[in-house]
Amino acid sequence: MATSNSLDALVQALRRLPGVGVKSAARMAFHLLQHDREGALALSQALAQAVGSMRHCERCHTFCEAQVCEVCQDPERDATRLCVVETPADQSALERTGAFQGLYFVLMGRISPLDGIGPKDIGLKKLLDRASDGVVQEVILATNFTAEGETTAHVISEALKARGLRTTRLARGVPVGSELEYVDLGTIAHALADRR
Ligand SMILES: [Zn+2]
Repeated sequence: MATSNSLDALVQALRRLPGVGVKSAARMAFHLLQHDREGALALSQALAQAVGSMRHCERCHTFCEAQVCEVCQDPERDATRLCVVETPADQSALERTGAFQGLYFVLMGRISPLDGIGPKDIGLKKLLDRASDGVVQEVILATNFTAEGETTAHVISEALKARGLRTTRLARGVPVGSELEYVDLGTIAHALADRR
């Protein structure tokens, strides 16, 4: 859509956010311009800063500013267990339970044939190499319990088994169709403990 002025351009830019339609985008734009210009500038600076400095951890692929993230660098973590999650938000949900002391691999997505997202796009090769480091003994598949999350878990599981690696899946305490990010901590902790 062609933009006729800065306001339209701002609305179009805000619509890039997930779940934001044209009405909400317009409301945000009006709010920022009318009531919070300082906040709007801070937002634009934070965006530019994050886009410029955030990259992916070499080992687990999550967002970080260093070459390797803090979790991967932590010598206290159990390096024999690797937990595979879809997003950094899912990783945070697991971390908040305090029930997992191992390391992570963050796919930064999920396999979704309908959207043209295949194994390549979730870094399957990188995960296989990471899991084959000789230290990892168990790969816990903690992808979401949605159709796409299950497909992703299945594809990863088959690929890891072909390399002789042991995989487990979170137990079924997590409701079907749910995303970890929105599941309560007790349920996640149980699903983790009862994995098989
Ligand atoms: Zn890392």
